Amino acid sequence: MQVAAQAGKTVQEVKQYDLFMDVDFTGLKYTGKVTIDLTSTGDVNLDAVNLQVLSVRSGTRNILFKQNGPVVEIQTGRFSGPLEVEYKGKVSDNFTGLYKASFGEGYVLSTHLEAVQARKVLPCVDHPAFKAYFKVTVRTDADLSVISNMPIDSEKNEGNKKITSFQKTPKMSTYLLYLGIGKWVESKDHWGKIQLYSAYAKRSKGEIKMDFAFEAAKNVLDYYESYFGIPYELPKLHQVAVPEFAYGAMENWGAITYREILLHVDKDTTVRTKKAVASVIAHEIAHMWFGDLVTMKWWDDLWLNESFATFMGQKSVDSAYPQWVIWQDFVRTQTAGAQARDGLKSTHPIEAKVRDPAEIEELFDEISYGKGASILRMIEAYIGPDKFQKGVASYLQQFRYSNAAGRDFWTHLQQASGTEVNRIMEAWIGKAGYPIVTVSLSNTKLNLEQERFLLAGGIEKQTWPVPVTMTVDGKTQRFLFDKEKSEINLVSEPKSLKLNIDQTGFYIVYYQGKNLQDRVWSSKLSVLDKWGLASDAKQFLFSGKMPFKEYLTLIERYQDEQQYLPAYEISDQLALLYQIAPKKLVETSKRFHSTELRVLQTKKDDNSSLLKGIVAARLVLLDDVYAKEASSKFKDLANVEPDMKESVVMGYARSTNDYDGLMERYKKSTTDEDRLRYLEGLASFKKPELVAKTLEFSLSGSVKRQDVRNVIYYATNNPDARDVTWQWFKTNIEKLIKMYDGTAQLSSVMRAYVSIFGVGHVGEAESLFNEHPLPGADATLERLKIHDRLARAISA
Ligand SMILES: [Zn+2]
Repeated sequence: MQVAAQAGKTVQEVKQYDLFMDVDFTGLKYTGKVTIDLTSTGDVNLDAVNLQVLSVRSGTRNILFKQNGPVVEIQTGRFSGPLEVEYKGKVSDNFTGLYKASFGEGYVLSTHLEAVQARKVLPCVDHPAFKAYFKVTVRTDADLSVISNMPIDSEKNEGNKKITSFQKTPKMSTYLLYLGIGKWVESKDHWGKIQLYSAYAKRSKGEIKMDFAFEAAKNVLDYYESYFGIPYELPKLHQVAVPEFAYGAMENWGAITYREILLHVDKDTTVRTKKAVASVIAHEIAHMWFGDLVTMKWWDDLWLNESFATFMGQKSVDSAYPQWVIWQDFVRTQTAGAQARDGLKSTHPIEAKVRDPAEIEELFDEISYGKGASILRMIEAYIGPDKFQKGVASYLQQFRYSNAAGRDFWTHLQQASGTEVNRIMEAWIGKAGYPIVTVSLSNTKLNLEQERFLLAGGIEKQTWPVPVTMTVDGKTQRFLFDKEKSEINLVSEPKSLKLNIDQTGFYIVYYQGKNLQDRVWSSKLSVLDKWGLASDAKQFLFSGKMPFKEYLTLIERYQDEQQYLPAYEISDQLALLYQIAPKKLVETSKRFHSTELRVLQTKKDDNSSLLKGIVAARLVLLDDVYAKEASSKFKDLANVEPDMKESVVMGYARSTNDYDGLMERYKKSTTDEDRLRYLEGLASFKKPELVAKTLEFSLSGSVKRQDVRNVIYYATNNPDARDVTWQWFKTNIEKLIKMYDGTAQLSSVMRAYVSIFGVGHVGEAESLFNEHPLPGADATLERLKIHDRLARAISA
């Protein structure tokens, strides 16, 4: 299927869309008239999905057309000028196109058009390279307001209806168009001459507090304008909280949409959520330049959009909130998260060849975001941050209001740095997987060898151009290692050494022999280095390269860990291993988490509060005595520090099994963060039948569909709920498929959670995915088998 390519085939240029939509808010349908100013060399084909085209005219002349599946074939012949298309459509009940976002007492209508969903709202050439001006007008009920990319040009009442007309957008891609219709509560602020707005759906109780969201937006706008050397190009910027949203947020130009939880910050907000709010805002606002102003030519380069926004987002958050040392979160979540995916045989290269719209959605994954961003970090470290910035700025300057390919970006980095970037980037984005560099030492000779690392074990002969960094006895060395083997002659036998300084490289390092490993540990290790040794060790354990006993000895070094990043990493690892093999890990994990809780008790900074909350929530699952202790604070939950509330709610659930009490609290909650806290409690009971009840409840319509994923996550963490979660998933897979249609959410849920609660059910999982050949099934099965094998190895 080559839908998008087919639609744009003869069209040379689309100049402008004049879009008029008459939206029946209560009837959940609309009629539209779009006048498309275009030129084509033959019959015009437009993309249109779930739309019924009523007529096509040029001036007063009717033109014959046929709707052939997702394409409208219009018999224009060679054509230049405005083409007027009348059509009608329905509000979608999943998360794409113009969809209904509910919040219990009401709903708003909101669009989500990335990647190829603009065609669900208007017939168009739905291709990122066909940039055009948009002039949007909406007619709907007079008591509603409408938000779009640009400021309102005029509003006119017509009885009980209102016509809102917006200023013309700059040239932009179809997927960036935005419409939000409903009763919005709006606040206003400004950043220089730019108007800033926040908006959320009006409700009878509670509110979305967006003061912090404004502050964060201003901070990152400052950073980007100076980093890119190009101003923010629109007269206004909306940050819209959408009650239900499949993804975290979306960078519609001038009207960014977010989940409510990613904009709301109040006195009860955890540090963890606050960091997520800042990071997501920073990511989306980076897209205003990289993605919106300069756009990829085709979805093959989606990763560049996403990884760049992720990478820049970290930079700007680090500059605005240095106390969070956000790069430490980056390596733990993005780099390691990407390796956990990329170490599978069923991974894909960063640069993927895509044609089918469903394939495009599947690209919104750990590879496009995490691996891509990690490669950018590696290249920045290789050429230096100043040259990297220079390359980025000249790239944006050259391609403003147009499209570019990844190659164009490398070329600018290469020109700015005078360093070979093209060849390195082409290799890293064109090849799936990543290297393991094996190091061995004989006297003064250091031998390096590289091959592809596979989590399932086994090796594959492959080489990458690896920008290796190394400290030997305190001295730094850098070189490009692009062969299978390399031999380095040192001046003397080293006392200490470590490769991949600060973990800027996307490779893992295996040091052969205890003698060499001791020298690594006697080096002066940064926090990132210390993290890297643990993160690499986890991968060796999973692949079978490191026996479980040896792994346990290694993580002993982190007992009583004082630093945020390595402590968080070990907590993550033990939590995962505990899920995979609960009986064998309970004591080790309990010991680590209770020691860590004591260590953190004395610390007062943001990151310590965050980690203390995580550690406490994990300890609650491991230790009934501690669960009871945490539970005793439940009656005074309002006064518990925000990051500790999670453990108190979970402790209460595990010590009381009070389903009704927690359910009542859930129903009374007015913020997403509170709702999620109680949902987590409801999934943490010791009685599995109560967790089963919660899982059923999650699909009853009383839980936001976006949060079903969280319920699955919470149940996965609960060691007592494994079997009921597996049964529930099997029974409800059809519902989940339908609910997440058009997004890549289900495959990411499966990779992350089914691969855990499916341990012990490999055969059943295979037949389930035979029946439902879903995208992402192969990676899920592969990871599940790795977990299953490890569970047996640990228990042996
Ligand atoms: Zn993004």
